[in-house]
Amino acid sequence: AAKRMGRNQYQLFNETLKSAAEQYLLMQQGLETALAREEFSLVYQPQIDSRSGAVIGAEALLRWNSAELGFVSPQDFIPIAEQNGMIRQIGEWVMLEAVRQAAAWINQGGYDKMQISVNVSASQLSDPAFSYKVASVLRSTGLPPRLLCLEFTESVAIRDEEHIIAMCDELVSMGVTLAVDDFGSGFSSMRTVTAFPFQFIKIDRSLIYDIDRNPRNEAVVRSVLELADRLNMYVLAEGVEKLEHVNMLQQLGCYYIQGYYYARPMALEVFEQWMQNREINIKYPS
Ligand code: C2E
Ligand code: MG
Ligand code: MG
Ligand code: MG
Repeated sequence: AAKRMGRNQYQLFNETLKSAAEQYLLMQQGLETALAREEFSLVYQPQIDSRSGAVIGAEALLRWNSAELGFVSPQDFIPIAEQNGMIRQIGEWVMLEAVRQAAAWINQGGYDKMQISVNVSASQLSDPAFSYKVASVLRSTGLPPRLLCLEFTESVAIRDEEHIIAMCDELVSMGVTLAVDDFGSGFSSMRTVTAFPFQFIKIDRSLIYDIDRNPRNEAVVRSVLELADRLNMYVLAEGVEKLEHVNMLQQLGCYYIQGYYYARPMALEVFEQWMQNREINIKYPS
């Protein structure tokens, strides 16, 4: 957490004064009231086609500014929200907020090709009404389903697989795009990409950060690209921070990119400012 604090300006709270157990308890309690107190917000990080520089999408990322704890990283509070069940409500808030925002952008003009990506947690997926809830958010906001991309981490796909696959099929037939997030990190399996109807693979940043000088990671990325090609899937690289990464990825044939090299996740107004006069393109021809 200390490393993240400096780099992402998350001032967790005074870690030296509070034990881990105390911190956990504080976060757990804080999460119970965070929605009602309107302590959550979304930031948006662009996804770019490096060939044209066009924006093809934006990922909505959750931020929590707690009255007691200050800014808490999603890496710290999402696992707790998963454990105590809060994640369903929080996830529903994120979905509604992100989709509503994307629909508002279309109404304001100009953003009608940009996909919005929303992270979906394991417990949301295990909700039997999940696809129904997504459908009703799309209906009530008017966002075309093709402009919504749902990102799942692979560890999601463990329990009740058949039912989850059926729900994913439903979402795909509605026109929603599905992406496997953090591919190549801890829980990856080849089976995940074939068992679930994903259109997109997001390569984890642990494979990207040294891709310009680590031949092993380069080899892994190469084979992910080949796999995706054979399965007719699209690939996006996460955590692209340097021009060297972009160059290497272009050489390998990976053009969809998300990372600090282009832009950090930005608060709404900053994102809208950043988007001014940008070319927007569809993420993938459907
Ligand atoms: P993720 O979905 O893989 O999101 C990408 C994370 O990488 C984000 O961290 C983003 O800020 C960070 N990132 C983007 N570009 C770069 C880069 O070039 N270098 C580095 N070092 N990092 C980069 P963030 O926002 O802290 O989110 C962390 C994780 O928390 C997310 O990983 C996702 O798993 C989870 N998360 C965030 N928002 C939500 C949400 O609304 N719902 C759920 N279920 N999970 C969320
Ligand atoms: Mg994600
Ligand atoms: Mg990721
Ligand atoms: Mg992640």
